[in-house]
Amino acid sequence: MKKIIVIGAGLGGLSAAIRLAVSGFDVTVLEKNEAVGGKVNYVAANGYKFDTGASLLTMRHVFEDLFDFCGERIEDYLTIVPLDPICRYFWMDRTVFDASSNIEKTAREIERIAPRDVENFHRYLADSRRKYEIAEKTFLAHSLNDLPKLLRPKYLKDLLAISSMKNLDAHHRAFFQSEKLQQLFNRFATYNGSSPYQTPATFALVPFVEFGLGAWYVRGGIYEIPKALARLANESGVKIKTDCAVEKIIVENKQAVGVRLENGEIFKSDYVVANSDAIETYRNLLDKKFYNKKLDRREPSCSGFVLLLGVRKKFPQLAHHNIFFSDNYRAEFDALFTDLRPAKNPTIYICATSQTDATQSPENCENLFVLVNAPYTSSKTDWKIEAQSYRDLIIKKLENCGLEDLESSIEFEQIITPEDFESKYRTNRGSIYGVSSNGIFSAFLRVPNKSKKVENLYFVGGATHPGGGMPLVLLSGKMAAEMIAREN
Ligand SMILES: Cc1cc2nc3c(=O)[nH]c(=O)nc-3n(C[C@H](O)[C@H](O)[C@H](O)COP(=O)(O)OP(=O)(O)OC[C@H]3O[C@@H](n4cnc5c(N)ncnc54)[C@H](O)[C@@H]3O)c2cc1C
Repeated sequence: MKKIIVIGAGLGGLSAAIRLAVSGFDVTVLEKNEAVGGKVNYVAANGYKFDTGASLLTMRHVFEDLFDFCGERIEDYLTIVPLDPICRYFWMDRTVFDASSNIEKTAREIERIAPRDVENFHRYLADSRRKYEIAEKTFLAHSLNDLPKLLRPKYLKDLLAISSMKNLDAHHRAFFQSEKLQQLFNRFATYNGSSPYQTPATFALVPFVEFGLGAWYVRGGIYEIPKALARLANESGVKIKTDCAVEKIIVENKQAVGVRLENGEIFKSDYVVANSDAIETYRNLLDKKFYNKKLDRREPSCSGFVLLLGVRKKFPQLAHHNIFFSDNYRAEFDALFTDLRPAKNPTIYICATSQTDATQSPENCENLFVLVNAPYTSSKTDWKIEAQSYRDLIIKKLENCGLEDLESSIEFEQIITPEDFESKYRTNRGSIYGVSSNGIFSAFLRVPNKSKKVENLYFVGGATHPGGGMPLVLLSGKMAAEMIAREN
């Protein structure tokens, strides 16, 4: 039986490991942290539970497909519940808008705040659907190593049809008259940590994922997902070893033949699959001669500044997911990606799972996961100095937005900064989605799933193809596993 080492037990690594074990390989996952899940992590304290990474489950079928592959039913592992509304949006002028995957309901909300855009919304969603359907059979189904295949006439026509020289913001300004709706749909660029002012309009496929396919929560918290995948991995014969940091990938005759841990232990293998951030893997786990300076130019996705707040109070105005928009979205993204500084007036996301799941907080309390997009790490921001004042600014803004007495009701609190994301998960400059999609050709410039420099070395996870976000990293694991299986 051929041996495979997977570096990292993030969702991409677990997805690859499970599929490879089911395909007949002897698979060992080596994870540096004490638990599996990578950036899908959690904190439990004083009766409160918080997911500290992903909070929204989309593309449920991708998860189901993994369980199907193992001959299992996802329902036997996870209780997945649809969310309605998917997200409640708040603007500074006190406008509130509920987005739902019930299209008629959303259309009624649009009728209320921007009646002239109802028809535009239907047209927009039809375009978003078409874009998604093309991406699903091309970009999301094939590794970049298959690029020559994607460039054949059969796919090329479709790919050109969804390609665009326009950015997402220009696309939305062409569709919607209401600035509020332009801003609402621009927000989808942040689903892979990018700026709507730089991401190509092709990414207008993302709203269909949420409005057309639906959005879910997992009862007990999103961390139930990596727990379920670890169970599936164990049942499939995968060995998972935690507290095992890999120091080097051993390469002989340009072929990956195993790894060395930081404690000196060596694991020999026939293949290595790196779920460690792909750019960091080239930078730190491989010999310098394999590093291509071009990788320095791959812009990391944005990072995040997170507050976990256990609050002795209910906020009935909140839904499960909430967005408090800033007045000047462009200034926010200029700060994040041009100045590499935290936005002075940030849009604030709150996930309050206590709104729909009583297991998440003590009675009459809320577990607020507060997330603000933050720049990837650089010398321009020292979070050790700035975290506390940024935290104060966010709490004050939320109080101004109607969360009265928030400050005085906090009984548990933890701050997570971009520097924490960088050190805990060894991500490239604290990026939370891997590589950004800023730039017309960005999607084609990711690290491919199969190394072109080292034989038998594969990459999975947010910094590789097809990108960041839970379902996409699961797909990267599928692509890598299929390529390895095809070779054997
Ligand atoms: C705050 C936040 C909010 C998010 N919200 C959403 C959301 O709502 N919906 C969604 O779908 N996605 C969301 N995401 C993104 C999603 O969580 C990630 O894209 C996805 O989980 C990343 O998976 P990955 O496979 O790239 O691996 P990672 O999670 O990056 O895991 C990689 C693993 O490799 C380990 N590792 C690294 N180096 C080594 C080494 N040398 N040796 C051993 N192990 C190593 C790390 O410790 C880590 O466990 C969010 C992320 C964050 C942080």
